[in-house]
Amino acid sequence: MATNDNNRFQAIIAHAKEYGFVFPGSEIYDGLSAVYDYGPWGSELKKNIRDYWWKSMTQLHENIVGVDAAIFMHPTTWKASGHVDNFSDPMIDNKDSKKRYRVDHLIESYADTLPQKEAADLLGVMDRLLSADDYAGLKKLIEDCQIKCAISGTSNWTDIRQFNLMFKTEFGAVASENEEDNIVYLRPETAQGIFVNFLNVQKTARMKIPFGIAQTGKAFRNEIVARQFIFRMREFEQMEMQFFVRPGTEGEWYRFWKEERLKWHLSLGMPAEKYRYHDHVKLAHYAKEACDIEFEFPMGFKEVEGIHSRGDYDLSQHQLYSKKKLQYYDNDINEATGKPYGNYVPNVVETSIGLDRMFLSVLSQAYQEEKFTKEGGSDDSRTVLHIPPKLAPVKLAVLPLTKKDGLPEIARDIMKNCRGDFYCFYEEKDTIGKRYRRMDAIGTPFCITIDHQTKDDQTVTIRYRDTMLQERIPVAAIKDHVTEKIR
Ligand code: ATP
Repeated sequence: MATNDNNRFQAIIAHAKEYGFVFPGSEIYDGLSAVYDYGPWGSELKKNIRDYWWKSMTQLHENIVGVDAAIFMHPTTWKASGHVDNFSDPMIDNKDSKKRYRVDHLIESYADTLPQKEAADLLGVMDRLLSADDYAGLKKLIEDCQIKCAISGTSNWTDIRQFNLMFKTEFGAVASENEEDNIVYLRPETAQGIFVNFLNVQKTARMKIPFGIAQTGKAFRNEIVARQFIFRMREFEQMEMQFFVRPGTEGEWYRFWKEERLKWHLSLGMPAEKYRYHDHVKLAHYAKEACDIEFEFPMGFKEVEGIHSRGDYDLSQHQLYSKKKLQYYDNDINEATGKPYGNYVPNVVETSIGLDRMFLSVLSQAYQEEKFTKEGGSDDSRTVLHIPPKLAPVKLAVLPLTKKDGLPEIARDIMKNCRGDFYCFYEEKDTIGKRYRRMDAIGTPFCITIDHQTKDDQTVTIRYRDTMLQERIPVAAIKDHVTEKIR
């Protein structure tokens, strides 16, 4: 990361804390690594992003319904899904510093120090060894390159081991003789809560294929390299949708959702040049096609959402492990045979986006330090969040110019009239200029000021965050004016 990008990232993190968006988790106890809490404006922004996703998935698609499944799931779920055996990364520890590294990250950092050609060769060897799960070969590669621990400066490495990323906990109060009996996992993804409910949902909501099931909720991963603020957390939130389709049609639905999801990001007014697709070359063994939608964060282009064509892997696995049929009866006529398609295990196309990463993309896109010339000709500056109005935590600030002359009373009436429709914020302390700056800093798109003229002609000044332009509008028009602009 270039220094100025790093400075920008650090400024965004500091701003998020200072203005009540994101706090380090358990801060009074010096924090808990890769865990964060959302403050008053952060929780509001996060809720608005979640609601926008939920509405565009469920309310705007007749064939998508939602669920809210439990975080705890039967432990066999994770055997069937492959997470118990495969959800792990190869790790190596330095014996002197006791620091643990992901093997690929350790080798990649070393490759960064080499000339381009040598680095490419090294990474080629690493990829080959990783795909073959050749841990002895990888350890030898680390030793041959004399890669050192950044903390101890030594090459005193342990053997390479797999480290499962799922958090375990115990269920129930009774100690069992076999400890394994009580173990449950904190879900590492929300998707499995959708798969195990596939038939419950299909039958009760009378869904006909193709149809989708959407869910938002917490997921937990014991990430080893957990840094970069809310980009990689140990407790985070996902917004996932599994779309069930007739086998043979998954390719076209994959392409449909790949385009549709990028459109969703752009519909928020996020700039197209900040997005790109990254098609996966190395696919999970069950996947047919997969890509990431990447966003240009301050630390570069990184995954914000994944689109995966998963075949019938998940439902078939749960069928196998639960011994319950997870099939769909399709009575549409197959033109090739002249008969109904009949029973089958549907194929699945998944869209999976991290709410916290989406939050970070909105925040980092919105953050601007601006210099400008004031009306009188003097220079000024401000820090402003250009958050899309429909996502902004506070939509309207209601500001009486003074605390007297009946202005607060008029302002309170406006609050009463508007607060049921959108989030309003009332403030009468400090100069108007200072109050505008504070609203800019939390991304409030509209401020209205009630002054003495209001008493004469029932108009107020509305000030627009992005342009800082002001105009007078009738008090009676405020609600419709703001509603129209945040729609
Ligand atoms: P990465 O390669 O960055 O670890 P992933 O490919 O493992 O991500 P998925 O399993 O596809 O991620 O999860 C879907 C989405 O969940 C990701 O696109 C991302 O937005 C989000 N996500 C995954 N892990 C984390 C995390 N540790 N913290 C925050 N968000 C996450």
